[in-house]
Amino acid sequence: MKTFPMFLQMAGRHVVIVGGGEQAAQKARLMIKTEARLVLVAPELDPELADLVQQGRAEQVATLTIDVFRDAALVFVATGCVGLDYAVHALAKAAGALVNVVDRPALCDATTPSLVDRDPVVVAISTEGTAPVLARQIKSQMESLLEPALGDLAALAGRLRPEVARQIPRSERRFFWDWVFGGSPRQAMARGAAREAASMIKDALATGKLAPVQGAIALVGAGPGAADLLTLRALRLLQEADVIYYDRLVDPAVLELARRDAERVFVGKEVGACAWPQDRINAVIVASARQGRKVVRLKSGDPGVFGRVSDEIAAARAAGIPIEIVPGITAASTAAASLGRGLTERGVTDRVMLATATCKPGDPDPDWAGTLQPGTTLAVYMGVHKAEQMVDRCRRAGIPMTLEVDVVSHASTAREQAISCSLGALVVTLARRGIANPALMLVRWPKGCPTVAGNPRHGQGVTQAALTGLAV
Ligand code: SAH
Repeated sequence: MKTFPMFLQMAGRHVVIVGGGEQAAQKARLMIKTEARLVLVAPELDPELADLVQQGRAEQVATLTIDVFRDAALVFVATGCVGLDYAVHALAKAAGALVNVVDRPALCDATTPSLVDRDPVVVAISTEGTAPVLARQIKSQMESLLEPALGDLAALAGRLRPEVARQIPRSERRFFWDWVFGGSPRQAMARGAAREAASMIKDALATGKLAPVQGAIALVGAGPGAADLLTLRALRLLQEADVIYYDRLVDPAVLELARRDAERVFVGKEVGACAWPQDRINAVIVASARQGRKVVRLKSGDPGVFGRVSDEIAAARAAGIPIEIVPGITAASTAAASLGRGLTERGVTDRVMLATATCKPGDPDPDWAGTLQPGTTLAVYMGVHKAEQMVDRCRRAGIPMTLEVDVVSHASTAREQAISCSLGALVVTLARRGIANPALMLVRWPKGCPTVAGNPRHGQGVTQAALTGLAV
């Protein structure tokens, strides 16, 4: 090792940053996370640094003297001028300081690592400058592995340490902490139940009994397909899961990210038809969790959007099993991104409606006229095979057939395909281009676009004759 990692004491000390520009600001962003007092040496500061001074988070020293470096925990030199960097470095060394000169490794006593910050848990990564990209990759792996609440658990453990030392014999302490960080307290903290985690630990201290790891269910959004559209939380839960129940629409690339020895069960839900009836899915996820297993129920997109989560939530709650929902990127957002635009456009479409064209068997067809209004982007899920009925209903409701429709199938995957046409030409275009599910339709009715006379929902509009002239 050319360098050796150490953690510097920052409390009650000061850090000097010489320079007032962007490089200095980058170091200030890092140092502001510590308890050290920040001293910024520069006659002028960029707005971000000036703001830190204004907020009392840093102090500005306009004229450099050697005294500012005395007893500093660390000195950063970031003047942006080679000659000045050398001169300041020499002065700081003369004061006996530990110095980092930005972008000049030869002048550095210490370098700043890549950090994964779960304060007070901090992981520092360095490749000694050989492979910064690798350092970033390791950092993102660690980011997904260490849940955001881990720092809170460590802080709680720190507060309870004296009590643990009093109550638990030394020979059993290691086992106790293994349980805290590998068992039910960590599990509870990770799903946001901080109070529950604290009382588990306190109960264990009072009774000497450690609550066993409880099975739990997570309804996890797998996103639209591309594995890198998964959330970090989804990734962590996939890597922790003992068993994963997944649907037809979940991309294999996402499943690849799960722990190698996790059991994977295809429950094969198709649109409008289920290889596994919902009752059976409910029963097996609950049964798995009852065995103490960590269950992930992986659903495409966002589980809360046409994902039938209520059945599974009710089953888990009825069985007293903790359940957590992890949102994902829904197909509507993905399709709009694929088209290179937003779902809304200020002043043009101020409202987004998410609708399914495939309702529960026996339910009436969707009321498209009630949903589609000027100023709306309508995102239609499970709609391709219902396009004809949808267009027909819209036409009868007097919705302009000139409205623009975009259809994106397999959004975010290698098989992505997009078409654009008018509402009137939708059915023909879908058939001609062979667009199949999964596909998302976005119907846009901009504000100010002709509305239809005779339909009170659509306000005062042009005449039907004029519309017919416009229709495709
Ligand atoms: N919970 C999912 C939706 C499930 S319903 C979500 O939030 O996205 C299934 C429908 O979602 C499909 O019929 C299709 O309309 C849409 N869909 C899912 N993945 C898609 C993708 N990659 N591209 C386009 N549409 C998709």
